[in-house]
Amino acid sequence: MARYTEARCRLCRREGTKLYLKGDRCYTKCTIERRPNPPGLHGARRRGKITEYGLQLREKQKARRTYGVLERQFRRYYDKAARQPGITGENLLRLLERRLDNVVYRLGLGASRSEARQLVRHGHFTVNGRKVNIPSFQVRVGDVIGLKERSKSMPRIQELMERAAENTPPAWLEYDPDRAEGRVVDLPTRDQIDVPVKEQLIVELYSK
Ligand code: SF4
Repeated sequence: MARYTEARCRLCRREGTKLYLKGDRCYTKCTIERRPNPPGLHGARRRGKITEYGLQLREKQKARRTYGVLERQFRRYYDKAARQPGITGENLLRLLERRLDNVVYRLGLGASRSEARQLVRHGHFTVNGRKVNIPSFQVRVGDVIGLKERSKSMPRIQELMERAAENTPPAWLEYDPDRAEGRVVDLPTRDQIDVPVKEQLIVELYSK
């Protein structure tokens, strides 16, 4: 399974905004606050008017990088979203939000989406009582996301359970700190998805 392994702060600098890819560190020692220019040798000198295509491309990259999805998989999400009834851009964000790694992150059981993804990959989570180690697994309404009993004694997982107990998940999710379990109570609506992406520009890019 392919994944991005280079410096993540470069991605934020490229997009010119905080994408919160490094968990708690993003709230304390953020690189983009010290070096806001794009990465690369001539990053500080890049100027000029950004084209319409450039704007659309940047929105797509921002969404892709926020959720940690590679190009081909992102395109597949778009194609699926376009086939669904409703607004394609919102369908796309909803599909991305319903990824298991994102849900774990939203519940507070991962400090970042990449940590959540790694924990899922390592088989620490269950969905409706069955182990699921596929980060892209799509949760449905009514699904219960839990931790494996054995995992609950691990120091990092215990820290994350404490974190999740203090975290307020979005309204489409519920978290029970006593059982360390989350539940999907609804599908996310656009206003519940706090990702600073103009999804309409992504639709325009792909529908050319
Ligand atoms: Fe982005 Fe976090 Fe790095 Fe800041 S610290 S640039 S928000 S990944």
